[in-house]
Amino acid sequence: MDYLPVSLRLRGEPVVLIGAGSVATRKARLLLAAGAELTVVAPDITQELETLLTERGGQWRNRRYREADLHGKVLVVAATSDRAVNRAVSAHARALHLPVNVVDAPQLCTFIFPAIVDRSPLSIAISSGGRSPVLTRMLRGKIESLVPASYGALAVFAGRMRDTVKRRMALPSPRRRFWETVLEGAVGEQVLTGNEERAAQLLLQQLSDAASDEAGERAGGEGTGTIGAIGEVYLVGAGPGDPDLMTFKAMRALQSADVVLYDRLVAPAIVAMARRDAEQIYVGKARANHALPQRQINQLLVELALQGKRVVRLKGGDPFIFGRGGEEIELLADHNIPFQVVPGITAASGAACYAGIPLTHRDYAQSVRFVTGHLKDGELTHDWRQFLSPTETLVFYMGLLGLPSICRQLQAYGRAPDTPIALVERATTREQRVLRGTLATMEAIVAREQPAAPTLIIVGDVVKLHRDLAWFRVS
Ligand code: SAH
Repeated sequence: MDYLPVSLRLRGEPVVLIGAGSVATRKARLLLAAGAELTVVAPDITQELETLLTERGGQWRNRRYREADLHGKVLVVAATSDRAVNRAVSAHARALHLPVNVVDAPQLCTFIFPAIVDRSPLSIAISSGGRSPVLTRMLRGKIESLVPASYGALAVFAGRMRDTVKRRMALPSPRRRFWETVLEGAVGEQVLTGNEERAAQLLLQQLSDAASDEAGERAGGEGTGTIGAIGEVYLVGAGPGDPDLMTFKAMRALQSADVVLYDRLVAPAIVAMARRDAEQIYVGKARANHALPQRQINQLLVELALQGKRVVRLKGGDPFIFGRGGEEIELLADHNIPFQVVPGITAASGAACYAGIPLTHRDYAQSVRFVTGHLKDGELTHDWRQFLSPTETLVFYMGLLGLPSICRQLQAYGRAPDTPIALVERATTREQRVLRGTLATMEAIVAREQPAAPTLIIVGDVVKLHRDLAWFRVS
């Protein structure tokens, strides 16, 4: 390791900055944000820096640098365009054993500024030891998108509860495990959703449970791996297939789950993102073998939660669009089990975007309707008169078996036989295929091409756009 990352406390400490151009202005902003008592030495200053110093209470010495400027300071930064001055500052600072940074001259530095992901009071520093600022910035971008904006709130919350927890749990090792469970679990999630009071209540409750667990363990009892009696269920939309289409919140839920329940529609790559030691339960899908009937799934969710588990129920697409998500959480609500619902990208959005078929369009469609194509006793029992507007796009979910019926009924009720229709097979995955035809021709096309589930059917003039807008090509 060439550099040791440390976090400096600069609040109220005297720091000197030599130079007052645009680069110096950026450094000044950083030093002031850290609460430093800043003195800037330079014969010239940017308007921005002057204003900053007035607002935040820094000083400007309007003259050239001299060695005495370093006296009594704890940290030195040089950002002038004059190499000789930069070198002199570095040499003087080293002689005084003061940490010094010279911007863009690693060989003159005893410390460097990392790229910072700021979730104050939480901060993440990234550095390449001065070798590749671009790489550091790229990495910073990744971490920015990985760490929820509200993580700062989590750090503040943990700070607020720290003494309370320490008083009740004297031993460091169980205390650490307790904090891990709390921050990764329901308490952390409540803080992240902005519900600090509920988070505090939960934490206190888990604290007393943990104390009795500890007593139990000492008496030879078996730990459950989870602390506290309260489980929680996350009904999570996993999107249409491509794992990159999951939300940050879905990822978080998945990575902190004790148990994951999933069905056929959820891609294996997504299930694989669960925490390594999470239990995975396949609950199938109505038509598949070994599937659990819906009633039993609902019941299982309740039982697992009552065992104190954090349960993630993964659903394809969005849980509230043809996902029976409502039914699953009704039973939870009846049992007063806490739950959250995490939206996902529904198949209609995924299929439409990846097939290059905008669901609405100024020229072709002013509305879109999501319709089930699921057959009941071999039939579709819609009121077809609702589906006749030529400026409305129709999207049929679960419509592969019913496709012949859909095409015939729409024509029988008056939609033009040449109305464009597309069938998107396994949308957003590497197996995606788009079959295009008209209400009159589609039945034969599907009979010939034999597409595999899941498929989505899009009806309306917007389908014409596919020819020009299709961008997702699988090789
Ligand atoms: N809750 C899900 C829909 C569940 S119903 C959602 O919001 O997407 C199941 C139907 O969704 C399938 O029959 C199919 O019509 C559609 N579907 C789901 N994933 C799909 C995919 N990758 N490609 C095409 N259709 C899909």
